[in-house]
Amino acid sequence: MQRVDAFFPRDYADARARFLALTQAGGFLTTAHVHPAHRAPDGSGLACDVAWRGPAAASRLLIISSGTHGVEGFCGSGAQAALLASGALDGMPADTAVLLVHAVNPYGFAHLRRTNEDNIDLNRNCIDHGRAPANPGYDEIHGWLVPESWDGPARETADREIARYQQERGMRAFQEAMTGGQYNHPDGLFYGGQAPAWSNLTWRRILREHCSRARQVVALDLHTGLGPWGVGEALCVTSEDEHRRAVAMFGEQVKWTGGGGSVSAQIGGTLMHAAHEELGPGKLTMIGLEYGTYPIPETLDALRAETWLVARGRTGSPEAARIKQRLRDVFYVDDPAWKQAVVDRLMEFVTLTREAFR
Ligand SMILES: [Zn+2]
Repeated sequence: MQRVDAFFPRDYADARARFLALTQAGGFLTTAHVHPAHRAPDGSGLACDVAWRGPAAASRLLIISSGTHGVEGFCGSGAQAALLASGALDGMPADTAVLLVHAVNPYGFAHLRRTNEDNIDLNRNCIDHGRAPANPGYDEIHGWLVPESWDGPARETADREIARYQQERGMRAFQEAMTGGQYNHPDGLFYGGQAPAWSNLTWRRILREHCSRARQVVALDLHTGLGPWGVGEALCVTSEDEHRRAVAMFGEQVKWTGGGGSVSAQIGGTLMHAAHEELGPGKLTMIGLEYGTYPIPETLDALRAETWLVARGRTGSPEAARIKQRLRDVFYVDDPAWKQAVVDRLMEFVTLTREAFR
């Protein structure tokens, strides 16, 4: 096998071409869900690509998805490609199919955003928008997180106010307010939107088209940015019931975000919640594989800068290029040892799934 480094993409177009070539060579049936309204910076098309292999009526299904958080797709797509090339998906047990979903959020991947074309965090978007939860903590800090300017007095005041908030309420409260999801500030961070996003609807459509006959579905959604460098934490976000199923399959290493012992805070409105709505109770075990990169303050600061850039900055400037590069760097460690760790961890979960399906 080639070094895994070779499978990680330069950009979205490279990732897409590689995914299609590898899946078609591997006998997968591919379908492109083309984005109806946006294109990549180079003018090429954007799509969420789906690849299926196995019996059409398979009762067991393994799903591996990448790029829910756009820029995190460098990691997820690279891991999918390395997995395809390794042969680890060959020889699945009878009555089992594999479904690979590439670039759930192709706009964010191609434009180096964690969010989608409308600044929406897809893992906060899958809620009932008639009953969006309030986040008063975020309302309080929004103006400081996204100040008028990135340099000078406005920024200095903002940073001072953030430091004061952190000191008075604690870091945990600050992070919950900032990252917990909010529905009032379309130009802000961790914004959940006002209606289902294209990627949310596409994800649901893919599940309806491919999962209606399966009785047991295991889904792995690949993420980066939380936790120690190169460590892939497996986490369940929807319910303790699902967590119990995941532990039976993968062991105690799977964390439940509601229990406080995970790298992630408890969040609602994720693609995992959407998947449970589409598939119904008891059928799905979906985990997020969250690969650590750098300490949380660094990641959050890079996200804040990029959100500011899109809301108030000047795209095309040298400063914009620096901010974009930094965002890519905190969500994708361009280092062979990190990539090897990412692929090894994914292989481990594929092997455990294969054993559970026997
Ligand atoms: Zn993510």
